Amino acid sequence: MRIVFLGPQGVGKGTQGARLSERLSVPALSTGDMLRAEVRSGTELGLQADALMKAGELVSDAIMLGMIRTRVAQADAATGFILDGFPRTLAQAEGLDATLVSASAPLDVVVLFEAPRDVLESRLTGRRTCGDCGAVYHVLSQPSSREGVCDRCGGGLVQRADDTPEAIGRRLDLYERQTAPLADYYAARGLLVRVDGTRAVGEVRSDLLMAIGLGEVVS
Ligand code: AMP
Repeated sequence: MRIVFLGPQGVGKGTQGARLSERLSVPALSTGDMLRAEVRSGTELGLQADALMKAGELVSDAIMLGMIRTRVAQADAATGFILDGFPRTLAQAEGLDATLVSASAPLDVVVLFEAPRDVLESRLTGRRTCGDCGAVYHVLSQPSSREGVCDRCGGGLVQRADDTPEAIGRRLDLYERQTAPLADYYAARGLLVRVDGTRAVGEVRSDLLMAIGLGEVVS
């Protein structure tokens, strides 16, 4: 299955993407994670992206499209993928369509996760991420068993450089301006389903599976 996860920062796309990726045996491709890996490796792209990311600004469409085209052409994405954080602009959505159409592998579904802004702000402020494996926690609602230590791999938990109040505000504004209109773009193509991202992780997972036609009917 080829799936796009659409929704503002902090709505739970990363958490759900990791779980759905296991269930479907397809990779969850987070462009934010890919860029952070470039920054960590000190590549030229990483150096260019670093300042923009810290400021909560977007990296250029041309760079992002190039990155995604290369990634979805890799062998592990042949049977499908989950895109998290891409596309973020109309130009990226159109570029993605063109790439997938020419590969005769169009999107199956676009999931829009929704939550009000105050919920997103409090989730992002308390978010902690494992510097090694990328697992995501929240200081109040989803803490690790040992403070500051990842349950999954034992790595150290850090606050992302762009999870400051200023950058959070800018990223959410940018989402509303540039990315939220993509819901109409995909609805017009009959691909959009909506999931309430304010519910607990397990409930969102059930809703997600139902929305993409993989829900289990409990009698
Ligand atoms: P995320 O982890 O999805 O919140 O992304 C972190 C940052 O990476 C964003 O604030 C942007 O600076 C950059 N980024 C990630 N994905 C994209 C994209 N599709 N287009 C432009 N910039 C992106």
